[in-house]
Amino acid sequence: MSEIIAITNQKGGVGKTTTAYNLASSLSRYNKRILLIDLDPQGNCSQAIGIDPTLSKKTVSELLLDNVDLKRAIRKTPFSNISLIPANLTLAMAESTLMANGGKANVNILKRKLSDPEADLFDFIIIDCPPSLGFLSLNALTAANSLIVPVQCEYFALDALAQLLATVTQVQRSTNPDLDIMGLLLTMFDPRTKLSTEIAQEVRSNFKDRVFTTVIPRNVSIPEAIANGVPVNEYKPSSAGSLTYASLAREVMEYAEKKHQTKA
Ligand code: ADP
Ligand code: MG
Repeated sequence: MSEIIAITNQKGGVGKTTTAYNLASSLSRYNKRILLIDLDPQGNCSQAIGIDPTLSKKTVSELLLDNVDLKRAIRKTPFSNISLIPANLTLAMAESTLMANGGKANVNILKRKLSDPEADLFDFIIIDCPPSLGFLSLNALTAANSLIVPVQCEYFALDALAQLLATVTQVQRSTNPDLDIMGLLLTMFDPRTKLSTEIAQEVRSNFKDRVFTTVIPRNVSIPEAIANGVPVNEYKPSSAGSLTYASLAREVMEYAEKKHQTKA
């Protein structure tokens, strides 16, 4: 069975997309088979993994609207072991259509689509969520087994996190009792600034062992890699960005193995 991970935080610019495809790439180096699902109409994740989503006819929109099955929505990427369901602006329209026709009853769609045996071909399914707690994110939270919540070390909003955790509790009570928070991930950490250190301490004291040991530093190789159309571990394997995403991948694999053993 694959581990379905949603990367979520309703704030924009905290490192969700960066984490989605760099974690995918790091896990693929450990011979894990990855399906990335871009669930943001902006299509940043698709672009980062080398696919122009504006040219894609079969995207996550067609999947959610039930026009294609899972297998036909999945496409290969330039990177071995990483497949993708792309997103583009049509996803905003698909979202409105689904909200108008069925509304809340449709928060199960992605989960239903991922119950296809085709999903079992992957060790990890990573969903890159949009910056909101709306319909698309609720679909992701309903479909996922676990969550990674990136928290930017440059701007801390405890309120926003509390709101997110309240939504998680709601989803656990309604559509997905098994949903687990794998961890909060400190991102864009800059040890030279007092603010970064303070935020990291505050997050750890509030959320304790629910925070990943790995901290992703602010590292220029990460945006440079995007400009070069590759994940950071292809662009500069020895960079702090590459090494810390590899370390996150090891924590994620350890979590999945432990969970698997408990269930077996
Ligand atoms: P989100 O998906 O949450 O909106 P992104 O992953 O798109 O956030 O990141 C926002 C911006 O910050 C992007 O331009 C990205 O390149 C940059 N960024 C993300 N993580 C880092 C990092 N660790 N170091 C430097 N820049 C980063
Ligand atoms: Mg994003």
